[in-house]
Amino acid sequence: MRRSALAAWFALTALTALASFSLAAQTVRDREIAQCLPGEIITWGDGRDRPANKTPLVFVYDHSAAPEWFSQEQVLAAVQKSALAWSPCGVPNAVQPFKPDVALPEGAVIVQWSEKNSGGNFAQADLGRGLLAMSPAMFRLLNTRNPTHDARETLQMVISHEMGHHFGLMAHSRRCVDVTSYYNNPQGQSCWIRGGASLPKGVEYRAALPTACDIARCRALNP
Ligand SMILES: [Zn+2]
Repeated sequence: MRRSALAAWFALTALTALASFSLAAQTVRDREIAQCLPGEIITWGDGRDRPANKTPLVFVYDHSAAPEWFSQEQVLAAVQKSALAWSPCGVPNAVQPFKPDVALPEGAVIVQWSEKNSGGNFAQADLGRGLLAMSPAMFRLLNTRNPTHDARETLQMVISHEMGHHFGLMAHSRRCVDVTSYYNNPQGQSCWIRGGASLPKGVEYRAALPTACDIARCRALNP
């Protein structure tokens, strides 16, 4: 009896130590991802936010023309992960694979690989046509320039970002960590980090999934 109580005590101590360690190891970025403080919803003012134009939003993934290092299962899983992460916004959504012989559901947004529809960007959302297009060439370039970089992270971030536009977040966030952010505007102004730190160079500061502020903005737009 005493032995097991002692063992339990050790286990509890170890757990507590582990918990305080992970708390200490939490970075400003981790905290920014998890929590949106009052006044932190700041955009570049480059678009007009509005409610999602489709409900439910049904993301239909078409794997045609994808870079060969991404499997269909992998990209579909990334689309599902982003959609799930946006779900606390409250707009119902679903994800399904594209099947040529099956009619598109109401509220469909085709997630596709297309140079033309991504317009020279990594990806582009076209709300009118119900598209979320990713650029095979940009992912190819990323792979050539930086073969050791994990392209899945970029893929996840790009999907989450463009999904944000479909959820109605049209303006880009000025908070660097938000998945809907961009870092610098053409006037050379920079995005903002809690505490006023400057953006670390050469790393992706932006989250791969919507942050607490992305979700808060989305909820406000879609009451
Ligand atoms: Zn954007």
